Amino acid sequence: MALAPILLRRARLPRWLLPHAWPATGSQPALADLHLAEGRVQSVQPHLPTSKNTTNGWDLNGALVLPGLVDAHTHLDKAFTLPRMDTVQPGLLGAIEAMMVDRRGWTEADVHERAGRALQWAFDAGVTHLRTHCDWWEPEGQPLAWSVLRELAHDWADRLTLERVSLIPLHLYADRDTALALAATVARSGPGALLGGFVHSTNWDPQALRHLFEAAQRHVLNVDLHVDEELNPAACGLATTAALLQDLRFDGHVVCGHTCALAAQDEANALATLDAVAQAPITLVTLPITNLLLQDATTGRTPRQRGITLVKEARERGIPVLVASDNVQDPFCPVGSFDPLEALAAGVTAAQLDAPFDRWSESLCRSDWLRRGPATLPLQRGDTADLLVFTAADAWGFPSRSQPRVVLRGGRVTSGLVPAQWKPESLTQEAPCLP
Ligand SMILES: [Zn+2]
Repeated sequence: MALAPILLRRARLPRWLLPHAWPATGSQPALADLHLAEGRVQSVQPHLPTSKNTTNGWDLNGALVLPGLVDAHTHLDKAFTLPRMDTVQPGLLGAIEAMMVDRRGWTEADVHERAGRALQWAFDAGVTHLRTHCDWWEPEGQPLAWSVLRELAHDWADRLTLERVSLIPLHLYADRDTALALAATVARSGPGALLGGFVHSTNWDPQALRHLFEAAQRHVLNVDLHVDEELNPAACGLATTAALLQDLRFDGHVVCGHTCALAAQDEANALATLDAVAQAPITLVTLPITNLLLQDATTGRTPRQRGITLVKEARERGIPVLVASDNVQDPFCPVGSFDPLEALAAGVTAAQLDAPFDRWSESLCRSDWLRRGPATLPLQRGDTADLLVFTAADAWGFPSRSQPRVVLRGGRVTSGLVPAQWKPESLTQEAPCLP
């Protein structure tokens, strides 16, 4: 039996989700009443003291509520590989080396089991939209994991949206015909596929980057890059991307993940790059956990730098910034749980983010920032009622104590324990599960 409340009374929604005219109680936004019907949001209104609870309504008494979560950057193909590896050299390039060795032993069953486990963890956390990269070293053909991820995207389509990015090292785009052939293969592999690339000062080739975007344009693909994931101030992948998009009049959408080098560059140069990014259809994704682990990493030496990109300066310029998990329990990162709130918790301390619930939780919820088009806030009338209700967190300490949560999908509880005090016995009834 699944619980399906028709009213969430006295919910505390984040400020970024509320209209400007929303009333306030002191310094806090007024609590909200969310009416749900047939698995969808019927209305979101300021709570009135005169309004009553109802049969099958929950009185949340100020519990925090968020829309379904987005995890914009993960690596399902690599997840959970760490326990079977020997010593891994520190830093990004050491992790890549270890991964190349492990990858030789992958089978479809192995990738399916690990990626499926990752999806289950994300599902339990309340993720409704997940984007994964897939290592792609083959100039011809496609990697074994790519078709497994396509199959999983199909199998999970009724529970979450899974997008796949071909993570292709930049040198494979050096030849224009190869670039076009790679894009054609990605485009043929069905919906939810994006063209990707690993752009780093160790493989820097501006002509190859141009080929990548030309190929994406030709095959109507959006692009998602690992770019400038380093603290080398000379790295110029992001700045070149912004310029190329303008030059090519690129009409798709581009995500640039990491962009750590901005934090190591001369302030004026870094801000000039962000000014150019703000004029382009670019969303930045920051990955605090792996950046803290992999940047400025040397055995036996405490890191001095944080490796986090300029998230505040980006938001100040209106650039969409998402926070995501990246690697989980693989040579790049021994920890992680496919819970985007864990990434936000790392970001709060690493980047000194203020108002994590009222401002920065937006970076976990805006799936519209992963495509080109008009901004569309979640939780609008008629939207599917995908919600997280936090049973122990408050707006001041968030995301601390955010692990206990109740997840609703299509208005029905799919994970978490509903506190007894939300549903007075006389007002609660169980709704039958859909077949
Ligand atoms: Zn990554």
